[in-house]
Amino acid sequence: MKIEKHAVATIHYTLTDNEGAIIDSSVDDEPLSYLSGTGNIIPGLEEALLGCEPGDKKKVTVEPAQGYGEHDAKLVQKVPAEMFSGIDKVEEGMEFETQSPEGESQFVIVMKVEDDGVTIDGNHELAGVTLNFDVSVESVREATPTEIEHGHVH
Ligand code: ZN
Repeated sequence: MKIEKHAVATIHYTLTDNEGAIIDSSVDDEPLSYLSGTGNIIPGLEEALLGCEPGDKKKVTVEPAQGYGEHDAKLVQKVPAEMFSGIDKVEEGMEFETQSPEGESQFVIVMKVEDDGVTIDGNHELAGVTLNFDVSVESVREATPTEIEHGHVH
């Protein structure tokens, strides 16, 4: 069958940036299964794979707006070092999980440590990055009613 809304598709993919550097790949690992039409994968890829069948190979370029979003300068903030009390040494590149005001968990990465504060970036690490997927469709099946109800593959 073809990939359509509420089909379960299993794919192998290799993801590269515009310089050709590999960001992620399933090829030496388990393939990825997702429930189509429910936002399990980024919207630009989900939409491009609609109508594909097992055996199809496809190259898909996803612009940031359809991927992990544009880089948002408002998510880069300088905060007081006291926010990291309890941590021995705060260093560039460290990642922390925080709570947004809405109570969602959010990851921030430390960009810069200075005497008067710590600059953190709450953007997804792939925000602002154009994503190039090389996809091969391994299998497609109908989802079970429970999978559709839960919105993910079992
Ligand atoms: Zn479930």
